Amino acid sequence: MITSPAFAGKRYAILGLARSGMAVLESLYASGAELLAWDSREELRESVADKAVIADPLDTDLTGYDAIVVSPGVPLNGHPIAIKAKADGVPIIGDIELFAQARASLPPHRVVGITGTNGKSTTTALIHHILANAGIPTIMGGNIGVPILSQDALPEGGIYVLELSSYQIDLTNSLDCDVALLLNISPDHLDRYDGYDGYAASKARLFDMLGSDHTAIFASKDEKSRMALDGLRDLGRVQNIIDVSAKQIAGQADWPSLQGPHNLQNAIAAIATVEALGLTEDQWRPALESFAGLAHRMERIAEAEGVLFVNDSKATNPASTGPALGAYGKIHWILGGLPKSDNLAECEPFYQNVVGAYTIGEAGQMFGKLLADHMPVESCEMMLTAVQRAAANAKPGEVVLLSPACASFDQFRDFEARGECFRCAVNSVIENKLIGTTSRETSQ
Ligand code: ADP
Repeated sequence: MITSPAFAGKRYAILGLARSGMAVLESLYASGAELLAWDSREELRESVADKAVIADPLDTDLTGYDAIVVSPGVPLNGHPIAIKAKADGVPIIGDIELFAQARASLPPHRVVGITGTNGKSTTTALIHHILANAGIPTIMGGNIGVPILSQDALPEGGIYVLELSSYQIDLTNSLDCDVALLLNISPDHLDRYDGYDGYAASKARLFDMLGSDHTAIFASKDEKSRMALDGLRDLGRVQNIIDVSAKQIAGQADWPSLQGPHNLQNAIAAIATVEALGLTEDQWRPALESFAGLAHRMERIAEAEGVLFVNDSKATNPASTGPALGAYGKIHWILGGLPKSDNLAECEPFYQNVVGAYTIGEAGQMFGKLLADHMPVESCEMMLTAVQRAAANAKPGEVVLLSPACASFDQFRDFEARGECFRCAVNSVIENKLIGTTSRETSQ
């Protein structure tokens, strides 16, 4: 666990006792802080009653507290805690800010911060993998894996690799990364921000916290990334600004878990990051080959009868599905769920790679209409039907790809449950020898 004398004797209110909230509580408690904690679930409140005063921060006078620590899941734009914090004059922060404040007492180390709309987890895991392969002590945290404060501090020379969602950046004021990376910005999470500009501004705050001798890396040419890059250049404060949006790198064919134009962007960004940290090509190139990828992101699930099945359930918006369609030549595309937009603009440039579409969930009808002029579409509603139909139509050399371009909550608990459902359906069509049955029927 990461603890710090910086927290000793201070007073904190913790709102939300899920994973990161619990990590915050344990770390602050072990550091000697005075705590008030709250969660709407009684069993969580009871489990910490020996370490914190249990009270709802909304009903408590918090004047004099050092901070209110909230989970990134709390929508600050519409939550009464934001008004309360203002009234009591207390800052609202998250676990990443506490990590930033603890840094001074940790062994000398460096921090990489990664943000962007899409590709954060993949790029975080990739940078972590390259560093670990080079023998550098490293852990990853933030929006990925185990909360950062529950992990053990790294020895001297270590590198913390932090995936940072815009929500986490909103709750952070003093994280001066050694290397800060912005992958891309496209419209997402607009319910929590003052429009698209507000969302983009939230991501760009990562660079406002950057020390002048540290490095900023920009990976994409999209409009909002350009604005953040130009804004930082105009300020003239940060010396090392690296733009890799036009960079090309050879060898992607040898990186099985980094297929598609989006993963090329992630790989180029990761390479620029590790080079800024002092690594050389002999160190990063083998690690790109051995990178195993993450579940539910362009994950190769199975190959049977010459048909490849790929699970990209994490593609919850059209901007992340577009490049997935660019990764293969002949795709049977399963898409749909809870729509985040009324168009598929980012997917259009790749329609020529799609042999057929199979729609599921709430967005099914709308997507069916959008796609009907461009490709054969089957309305399937359910995942199993979609996988069965796609597998039946697939020929050797073709790919069945789940890349939904939608949130999952209409039919599933989360994108992981959706990916697992796809995996089960794929196993079932393989076991029951249902691949390519359409062409077999027609040739009989
Ligand atoms: P995040 O953590 O930002 O949500 P992930 O690495 O989990 O990103 O990937 C989310 C989805 O976005 C996956 O479906 C993946 O195929 C797609 N994706 C990954 N990298 C990029 C990128 N650079 N640009 C667009 N889409 C991407």
